Amino acid sequence: PMPTLAIVGRPNVGKSTLVNRIIGRREAVVEDVPGVTRDRVSYEANWSGRSFMVQDTGGWEPDAKGLQQSVARQAALAMESADAIVVVVDAVVGATATDEAVAKILRRSKTPVVLVANKVDDQRMEAEAASLWNLGLGEPYPVSAIHGRGTGDLLDKILEVL
Ligand code: GDP
Ligand code: MG
Repeated sequence: PMPTLAIVGRPNVGKSTLVNRIIGRREAVVEDVPGVTRDRVSYEANWSGRSFMVQDTGGWEPDAKGLQQSVARQAALAMESADAIVVVVDAVVGATATDEAVAKILRRSKTPVVLVANKVDDQRMEAEAASLWNLGLGEPYPVSAIHGRGTGDLLDKILEVL
């Protein structure tokens, strides 16, 4: 079977946009309103002659109290079922309490984790991305899922760990 890459992170950070960028098609639903993606939808992706499945997550209730738990549960599920995990953080917003809670879980992951700083649409945002080293998940990969900036380097890294 093909290896599976799980994309996790809190709502609105750009997970579905990144999934579309990785698969090269607009199949994952992107919304300005958080919580529209159904729980764990998989798509086939190809990069550098290799095929793998990309699993988008979302679909939890956008209520503040349940959010942290829902995102944490998705991260825990990904640790058990995926071959590699991409955790997406919004570099414009910076790391939130929810991001930190998820990072705490993922730091113990035996499944490889790649940290993505999304919404780095231009050079000015690179510094915000670098501050995400503080999450303790290694090097943050700065990307703009919407424009494709940095996604080639990210995909090379993903294939290294997948
Ligand atoms: P999800 O909830 O994590 O799946 O996030 P979505 O992919 O649905 O995106 C949420 C919002 O962020 C949408 O309005 C996207 O257009 C926007 N977005 C996603 N990626 C980027 C990016 O790289 N740069 C900017 N500026 N906006 C982005
Ligand atoms: Mg989504």
